[in-house]
Amino acid sequence: MLANERAKILFATVTHHGGHWWVSLNVEAADVHPAHQHPLRAEADHGGWVGVDRGLSAFLIAATSDGEEVARIGDAPKALRAGMARQRRLSKSLSRKQKGSAHRRQAATKLGRHHHRNTNVRRHFLHQVSNALVKTHDRLVIEDLNVTGMLRNHRLAQAISDAGWAEFARLLRYKQAWRGGDVLVAGRWFPSSKRCPECGTVRGDLNLAERVFTCGCGHSADRDRNAATNLARWGRAHHDPHRSPDPQAGGRATNARRRDGADQHPTCAGETSPDDAGTDIHTAPAA
Ligand SMILES: [Zn+2]
Repeated sequence: MLANERAKILFATVTHHGGHWWVSLNVEAADVHPAHQHPLRAEADHGGWVGVDRGLSAFLIAATSDGEEVARIGDAPKALRAGMARQRRLSKSLSRKQKGSAHRRQAATKLGRHHHRNTNVRRHFLHQVSNALVKTHDRLVIEDLNVTGMLRNHRLAQAISDAGWAEFARLLRYKQAWRGGDVLVAGRWFPSSKRCPECGTVRGDLNLAERVFTCGCGHSADRDRNAATNLARWGRAHHDPHRSPDPQAGGRATNARRRDGADQHPTCAGETSPDDAGTDIHTAPAA
């Protein structure tokens, strides 16, 4: 975009963080090319909704309102899992070192560097997954975070924490806003996992060990896919064709311009604030 003069650098910030030097560029960019934006839907069009569920047995499952699974991200990348194991070893090693010693300082530096690398690997993964979703689907529904936090997938909990999922939702919203699509957040009390999409019965007794959702009406489906289907249906029923664009996602790619006058300096170099749409300076490969 810089080469095509569709973007210009406003300023750069140099910081030292996690044992590395970083140059963060603040860039003002043109809107996403119309060819990459979703076509506008007619007002009467209530279709195309895809529910995105934080699964119990997968990082993410996406399904249409008809129950068709359109995406399943089974596990975090190997590099991330290996990184988590190393992180545990390094922090154990740090805790064994004597306080105030040179060895302890060294161990702390090592851990800091590794932690930083890990964060980048995780972000890269979240960027890849969110990019894939917003490219293919213009109408997405995700669960309220307060709900997903309770249904934690323990196998992945260390690698993709609740914070990671919150980050994922943030990426999804601003990327989708850039493309002119929608991301809805289902209400906190919507029982996406426990509801039968066919007859509407809510199974209050569904426990975490049940990987297949079955209902008295005869419907049965993979538990995670079932939840995604319910979310897609929620979107179809609750979207407002007259709504204004997602305010928290910052609208289309006008964010840089709007932020021009105020709050130009990042609160903490090397991190992004929740409303900092599109300034993920450490994740250039996937951004
Ligand atoms: Zn049923």
